[in-house]
Amino acid sequence: MNTRKSENIYQEAVKYIPGGVNSPVRAFKSVGLNPIFVDKAKGSKIYDVDGNEYIDYICSWGPLMLGHSNEDVLSGVEEIIRKGTSYGVPTEIEVKMAKLIVDAYPAVEMVRMVNSGTEATMSALRVARAYTKRNKILKFEGCYHGHSDSLLVKSGSGTITYGVPTSPGVPEDVVKDTLVCRYNDLESVQKIFKEHGNDIAAVIIEPVAGNMGVVAGKKEFLEGLRAITKEYGSVLIFDEVITGFRLAFGGAQEVYGIEPDMTCFGKIIGAGLPVGAYGGKREIMEMVSPVGPVYQAGTLSGNPLAMYMGYKNISILKENKNIYKELEQKAIKLENGLKENLEKLSVKGTVNRAGSLVCLFFAEGPIENYEDVMKCDVEKFNIYFKELLKRGILLAPTQFEAMFLSNAHTDEDIEYTIKASYEAMEVAF
Ligand code: PLP
Repeated sequence: MNTRKSENIYQEAVKYIPGGVNSPVRAFKSVGLNPIFVDKAKGSKIYDVDGNEYIDYICSWGPLMLGHSNEDVLSGVEEIIRKGTSYGVPTEIEVKMAKLIVDAYPAVEMVRMVNSGTEATMSALRVARAYTKRNKILKFEGCYHGHSDSLLVKSGSGTITYGVPTSPGVPEDVVKDTLVCRYNDLESVQKIFKEHGNDIAAVIIEPVAGNMGVVAGKKEFLEGLRAITKEYGSVLIFDEVITGFRLAFGGAQEVYGIEPDMTCFGKIIGAGLPVGAYGGKREIMEMVSPVGPVYQAGTLSGNPLAMYMGYKNISILKENKNIYKELEQKAIKLENGLKENLEKLSVKGTVNRAGSLVCLFFAEGPIENYEDVMKCDVEKFNIYFKELLKRGILLAPTQFEAMFLSNAHTDEDIEYTIKASYEAMEVAF
């Protein structure tokens, strides 16, 4: 595989951008490679600057459910850009987008657009804290909610339930109010609530965790969270940045039949442009400025181009709900193929799937929380990743991410992926 042009750009990039990339995981560092630089993408395929073609399972980390450069999503975009790119004054498309979300999510009565998932979760927490007049928040080990200070926290060891910063620059004082529990472990939550329940403003969770591979929340666990937060008057926040409009049109909350108090959305509502949103019960959302006292703002929030693309993307999903069934069928085909490969080669591995999110873990199952995920053989994954890349398949360059399927992935793509995965495992094990 010739990646000479990518390599040249990378050598130039590292002079000006830390690590040559604008988000760390793009560096391919964890798999011991330098990144490929992308030229273009169409459907299920991505093309690097050297002209190599890959079946793409990153799909911009989730939002491209209809594949890259979908013609229906793109139609009319040029006209919108020519009208103007940003006004700093409201546009009608923002209202249409908000209505689309509110109509799809009964638990979301009002919504505010922001520019990223990080902003959505950060803002939701501020509102929840103001609403409850409490400071503590509870998150779960292995869930990622963006890089704001109070969420950049891992579990303290042993009996310490307070979080510890996962990054220098995050003051310990800031995270002293972030509590961390084990995913899918209701007992640990009950214990923490017994001790701190009346001080907990919010519990934030990915109902299906997509940032430690794919780990679905158990129904009883999520129902337990709903019950305990109600009992103590804490705000339950579902971070649906990955699962929103993907797991089902109504997100994980539709699948589980659980109504959180607040919901965070991300990239999918911009069809790959920089967008996020947070919403919830009217009473809570009316805390937000200019109605209420909680300050939260953004020059580019509700950007007309992003709203236009997102509106088209979500409208297509709304009008073609069969897409969800088709996507799930594709994911099941991939899941079964990968499981067969593991069996045939006697490789210790587990395939987790939730809707169109799939993850092959190189560890024995069941994989239900962060500790389980950490048992994976990362060295083997790194070899596997490189072998797949050579065969024209692009996975996220880490064991701890999902494979994102899109409607553009064909049966042939999936069959080829299963075959290539078999060969890659043969080399790795
Ligand atoms: N929440 C979840 C569940 C995510 O997966 C991510 C990013 O991948 C975020 C929040 C942060 O979103 P962003 O990268 O747009 O800031």
